[in-house]
Amino acid sequence: MEIKKPDSISYSLVKSSRKSIGIIVQTDGSVVVRAPHRATKKEIDDVINKRINWILKHKKKFEERGPTYSKREFVDGEKHLFLGKMYIMRVTVGAFNNVTINGEFIDVACKNEDLVKYLMEQWYRQMANKLMPQLMMSIVDKFNSLYDISPNKISLKNMKSRWGSCSSKANISMNIKLIKSTESCIEYVIAHELCHLIQMNHSKKYYSLLTEFMPDWKERKKSLDHFMR
Ligand SMILES: [Zn+2]
Repeated sequence: MEIKKPDSISYSLVKSSRKSIGIIVQTDGSVVVRAPHRATKKEIDDVINKRINWILKHKKKFEERGPTYSKREFVDGEKHLFLGKMYIMRVTVGAFNNVTINGEFIDVACKNEDLVKYLMEQWYRQMANKLMPQLMMSIVDKFNSLYDISPNKISLKNMKSRWGSCSSKANISMNIKLIKSTESCIEYVIAHELCHLIQMNHSKKYYSLLTEFMPDWKERKKSLDHFMR
């Protein structure tokens, strides 16, 4: 990937086996140009200059709306979050399915482009199962040493509208999507649910417990709301 600036538009360039030059304005207002390996700088600049009004219009629209993450098309050149960092997705069609991180890229090898979304979701689930237990462990241990109470079970789930939940049987569920956020945000969500082991509500008592246990929870919540909305 190279960053270039024709006519004051900065963009990320992803070269791949595609046949034509494509431009994506992402929901954060950044521009990604996807081009065939043989495309020259002049050819790319020509396409950008031809579509400059369209690019500027969409940049403005997205920038005014602020950062959003929810809408993904799972196409080559798109940005995807993992542990709070944005990666550029590179898609190659070939003989096998595989997802790997290489520097600033998430490389998706697939037998068919229709599989990209499924492969990414599967990869996020695997990464969540592999990494989230250890990311939550120190908070769970700290909570136990202070208040002498532990969850019965913590499971990772795909949840539509919540980051986590805690049942009256002391079972905590954590949303798999949290693997896209930072360690600090994951710690905040597990702390929020652990406090429900003592206070099964969002009362004043609940929030004073949460603040006692994790004094900076508001900043963590803000950063979770910010880049995952
Ligand atoms: Zn709650």
